[in-house]
Amino acid sequence: MNKIEGGCLCGEVRYSGEAEPMMVVVCHCTDCQKHSGGACSINVLLPRDVLQFEGQLNTYIGKGDSGHDVNRKFCGNCGSAIYNLPALMQDIFVLKAGTLDDVSWLEPTVEIYCDSAQEWAKIAEGVESFPGMMPG
Ligand SMILES: [Zn+2]
Ligand SMILES: [Zn+2]
Repeated sequence: MNKIEGGCLCGEVRYSGEAEPMMVVVCHCTDCQKHSGGACSINVLLPRDVLQFEGQLNTYIGKGDSGHDVNRKFCGNCGSAIYNLPALMQDIFVLKAGTLDDVSWLEPTVEIYCDSAQEWAKIAEGVESFPGMMPG
């Protein structure tokens, strides 16, 4: 079990809990580039309902490639992306890894949407990578 603890840039949103991360996924899709203002998003996949939250989270509902809703939760004050809830995967909670207090244990295992990766962003060696969504 890992202690999962973190929060947004301004500190209004905080979360904590204990969970066994299922996977760490780097996503190069263009939605994640827009949402993060960066080259990609780093996502820790957790079971739902293992984290306790405080502070005001706002929701932007976008569509995934599948056509299903993706609820993107962000701090109502500073706008930091905190987590996603994909409607397609009802039991999965997608935590934005940059919000963790301790990022030292992060080790991406999968990279997805590599076809839309920014030109300079190299896909890490030895990491399973997919041109789009993970199959299955
Ligand atoms: Zn904030
Ligand atoms: Zn993405």
